[in-house]
Amino acid sequence: MRGRKGPATDELTPEQARLQKGAIEFAQAELGQEMRERDHSHEFDREGWNKCAKFGVLGMPVPAEHGGLGLGLTDLIAVMEGLGYGTTDLGLLFSMHAHMWTNVIPILEFGTPEQQDRYLPKLCGGEWIGANAASEPDAGSDIYGLRTHAEKRGDSYVLNGAKIYVTNAQVADVFLTYATVNPELGALGITAFIVDRSTPGVSITKPMEKMGLRTSPMGEVVFEDCEIPASQLLGREGRGVQAFECSMEWERGCILAGCLGAMQRQLERSIAHAQQRKQFGQPIGKFQAVANRIADMKVRLDTCRPLVYRIGRLKDGAKNARAEAAIAKLHVSESFVTSSIDAMRIFGGYGYMVEQEIERELRDAMGGVFYSGTSDIQRNIIARSLGL
Ligand SMILES: Cc1cc2nc3c(=O)[nH]c(=O)nc-3n(C[C@H](O)[C@H](O)[C@H](O)COP(=O)(O)OP(=O)(O)OC[C@H]3O[C@@H](n4cnc5c(N)ncnc54)[C@H](O)[C@@H]3O)c2cc1C
Repeated sequence: MRGRKGPATDELTPEQARLQKGAIEFAQAELGQEMRERDHSHEFDREGWNKCAKFGVLGMPVPAEHGGLGLGLTDLIAVMEGLGYGTTDLGLLFSMHAHMWTNVIPILEFGTPEQQDRYLPKLCGGEWIGANAASEPDAGSDIYGLRTHAEKRGDSYVLNGAKIYVTNAQVADVFLTYATVNPELGALGITAFIVDRSTPGVSITKPMEKMGLRTSPMGEVVFEDCEIPASQLLGREGRGVQAFECSMEWERGCILAGCLGAMQRQLERSIAHAQQRKQFGQPIGKFQAVANRIADMKVRLDTCRPLVYRIGRLKDGAKNARAEAAIAKLHVSESFVTSSIDAMRIFGGYGYMVEQEIERELRDAMGGVFYSGTSDIQRNIIARSLGL
């Protein structure tokens, strides 16, 4: 292990290790240009998105008949880990995750053959970008308390409501959204709809500026007398919770795969800095306080990786992974924040400077404890799985 660079390969088959190496080389050569400027101006890298699509990322676990590569989820996790190691554009990776887990997978699992034919090839090929419009000003953790209303009129539904925190909103072609056909039914009224951006009544009202992940766009979406043909329902009326839970299980389990690569990169930079930077006549890594921080970063990374790869194996085996996904989401997101703070401490004042690009990773990491359900919500899911 000593002196070795790059993510560990112990969870990977030789073929997955080869895929991951290709992803690292691809990301190092093609992604993450002008990151400081684009982070500052909240600029999405559409060209990078197209390159990732061409690389096959967006449809990797989707059967070839729907425009994907027909590989496994574990293969994709290996690739995402490689991309996270090879690029610092974690916002771009985040946008890809949002697209895959909240649009591609639910349409694959619940879509009619017509919906699959219409959407999957373009989503897998990156031509269209998907967004998840679920959260509302008064429905965050309590997502099934959402108020966006869907009124049935003949063969259509008319949507009215406002969504916030919609990742990819400004660049999206398709929104998977959730509305209630009858608020009195609670979760049983919630229905999922695939809404094309071009539908009259859909508007992106304002971009939302974030602390981190700024190269991933985010906006508010309003549906105003937006008439959707019943053929755009995903699954059955009143069964939107199924599509939402499915997307959250995949998202929570996999969305931090790229962060594993980022944590490995942080660790390597921190080791190099601790060896080079001298104070009191010796490398700072010789001080136990600094060395212990690096040891803790390594322990965190090594306990995070198996949790994410476990999701790959469970889903590749068509198994349920609800609690396991919550465990992975909780542990990796919190670990990434703590390790980012450790990296910053190791770099001292340099770490606090924008130029070093360590503060950006801390800002990016913080998003992880909120999106796809906060850490408290993940703990609730884990506790419920234990009968509490
Ligand atoms: C970077 C980012 C990207 C996002 N992308 C999307 C997206 O694409 N689409 C989308 O629809 N949404 C998106 N979201 C929204 C995200 O899903 C919500 O922020 C999240 O679910 C929390 O909801 P909230 O922000 O309203 O917080 P609240 O629900 O108001 O929670 C506030 C606090 O109360 C705690 N809390 C609430 N309920 C409980 C409980 N039952 N038990 C214990 N503690 C509780 C929370 O843990 C938190 O600490 C995104 C958010 C972020 C930060």
